[in-house]
Amino acid sequence: MKRAASYALGCKVNQYESEAIAELFQEKGYEIVGIDQPADVYVINTCTVTNFGDKKSRQLIRKVKRQNETAVVAVVGCYAQTAPKEIMSVEGVNLVIGTKDRGQIVELVEAYNPQGGVENHVTDIMKERIFEPLSIQKLANRTRAYLKIQDGCSQYCSYCIIPYARGPIRSRDPQDVLVEVRQLAKNGFQEVVLAGIHVASYGKDRKDTSLLEVLRLVHQVEGIKRIRFSSIEPNVVTEEFAKAMAELWKVCHHFHLSLQSGCDRTLKEMNRRYDTRKYREAVMLLRKYLPDAAITTDIIVGFPGETAVDFQESYAFAKEMAFAKIHVFPYSPKKGTPAAERKDQIQNHVKTERSHSLLALSEAMSKAFLEKYMGKTVEVLYEKSVEEGIYEGHTSNYMKVLTNSPEDLSNRLVFTKITDITEEYALGEAIL
Ligand code: SF4
Repeated sequence: MKRAASYALGCKVNQYESEAIAELFQEKGYEIVGIDQPADVYVINTCTVTNFGDKKSRQLIRKVKRQNETAVVAVVGCYAQTAPKEIMSVEGVNLVIGTKDRGQIVELVEAYNPQGGVENHVTDIMKERIFEPLSIQKLANRTRAYLKIQDGCSQYCSYCIIPYARGPIRSRDPQDVLVEVRQLAKNGFQEVVLAGIHVASYGKDRKDTSLLEVLRLVHQVEGIKRIRFSSIEPNVVTEEFAKAMAELWKVCHHFHLSLQSGCDRTLKEMNRRYDTRKYREAVMLLRKYLPDAAITTDIIVGFPGETAVDFQESYAFAKEMAFAKIHVFPYSPKKGTPAAERKDQIQNHVKTERSHSLLALSEAMSKAFLEKYMGKTVEVLYEKSVEEGIYEGHTSNYMKVLTNSPEDLSNRLVFTKITDITEEYALGEAIL
């Protein structure tokens, strides 16, 4: 039996796609092994969101080739799509595929002739209009499944390379989404995360659906108890949307609402399509209908031209929003984007100082968020045992909870009384 390893660097969408690729190999009779094991085929799904992502991708390619000199190494994903020639020059690469045609990957690998040298199958993604049907059917024994409903991005934020790597927005056929969700429910998943490169754009390229409509479809599926979005943007949060979030009881009360900066001047230079007024309105609407909603976000510090005053504005706005958590990213110039060309880059030590200060705010806000639940009873979906008799799970509003239990709590929804708070966890007593 031939062995194949499929590995993703980067985001959840890449992880989803790598799992789907593994299933394609499995269907053709391959044994699926880990990336650090000897295999006949290695598929590396690369990430190019930062230059560091590129470097990690190159390192991994060299590493797998060392594990088996004769293996076929296929490199797919965002880095392969934006820099196929660069990938072809990395020692050990056999096939370069990019962000489309991955559905044919088994055929391409099997047809590969080592005598012919490196094959480049990357084509122009900017002309792509169809959602590539890659799906996951068989995963079992897990609690939460990611479900890719959308690909591509047409936003062109000035710091981001993704629109060039993924092409324009393409939304998945809602009926196809439904088929996959039903299968996931059949396989025991209780929670699905609707994921994509820019989920907020779902439906904008189709006449027959919208983000709310696809959510309503998923909501009908029996067996699914929780639905999350991987990330949304303030522009989708209208009164109708926020109201629907409260009415659809399976929707988790957690929204990752990308902010990127709390300073309007910086937002404009980032080419983000909202300002702080719109963002505040979105947060207020979500909290009006879902008072216990956890709002988390991403913020970039040290974007070119960000002055000390701009940063203070961003910091003050983040504080006002009372986030449950902030993912802080020091700006990292990405070749091929307008922001990377700017002359007013911020020095690294300034970015580090700003990161520390925002991270300290994030920690304080996370703690304040968790503390509100001391002594309260919450419903937790337990995912796994982290040590014998200790289970980890999440609430609908994404509080991470740990509890002791003599019973196996995996994949069970259990009411739990919160008794203590640490920096990362709420500790609780499961009510069995
Ligand atoms: S919305 Fe902006 S940051 Fe997000 S993928 Fe699109 S261009 Fe990149």
